[in-house]
Amino acid sequence: MYKGKNNKGDSFMNRYVNRECPYCHRIIRADDNIVVCSKCGIAHHVECWNENHGCTTYGCDGDPRAALNLGFNTSEILTQAVEYSKAPLWPRLWASILDSIIAGAAFMVGIIILIVAGVFDSYTYNGYYSDYTPYNGVSYGWYIFGILLIVGGIICALTYNFIKDGIGKGQSYGKRAAGLMVVDLKDNTPCSKGKSALRNLIWTALNMIPYIGWLIEPIVVLANDKGRRLGDLAANTQVITVKEYEKLTNSDQWKTL
Ligand SMILES: [Zn+2]
Ligand SMILES: [Zn+2]
Repeated sequence: MYKGKNNKGDSFMNRYVNRECPYCHRIIRADDNIVVCSKCGIAHHVECWNENHGCTTYGCDGDPRAALNLGFNTSEILTQAVEYSKAPLWPRLWASILDSIIAGAAFMVGIIILIVAGVFDSYTYNGYYSDYTPYNGVSYGWYIFGILLIVGGIICALTYNFIKDGIGKGQSYGKRAAGLMVVDLKDNTPCSKGKSALRNLIWTALNMIPYIGWLIEPIVVLANDKGRRLGDLAANTQVITVKEYEKLTNSDQWKTL
């Protein structure tokens, strides 16, 4: 990639100024960011190269690089210029439902045990408020087990909620099932647990505001052209499909110089 204002290679840039970018058919200007194909030598806008995932010349599999040795690391700059498309919404919704079920599982089982054990019944039917024994004959064991599941479940759910997108390859279990992942846009790597905590902390904080807070992140996801919610903007992350990530990272077009 060559930034026209860099005075290292003005003569190099001059070769390509006023030529047409084969992808968008616009004229390349002196301050455009361009890459030149290593095989066919055609100059493209960086965004156009990325959007096309490579050279636009039919059958060409050249690398994005400078035709002349300009002394800068093309691969490094290109990594930052990678742009992912917006992840589809239905898999995202599906992933978030799955993650909620996973996070809430122990808690829900605890609640069910308490209901079956009749803990709630004993208060309403019998009115023995001063005595915490369930009165329908279910043992203390189930009662304590239910309480432990609820308390443990809340702790596990909170922990999972914060670190989930840093598990493995930037994938919570829900995202893994839906073929999605979270990428750290700074260096194009799978989301770390720290970044996961940051993007999900914002989600959690907003959800503490009743009604209005619950709507904010879903609305931002719909409105943002990359589907990035406020937590993503803070953590510089994006939800993408695993397919797209692998296509970009495994492709020969992105190998280093
Ligand atoms: Zn272009
Ligand atoms: Zn080419």
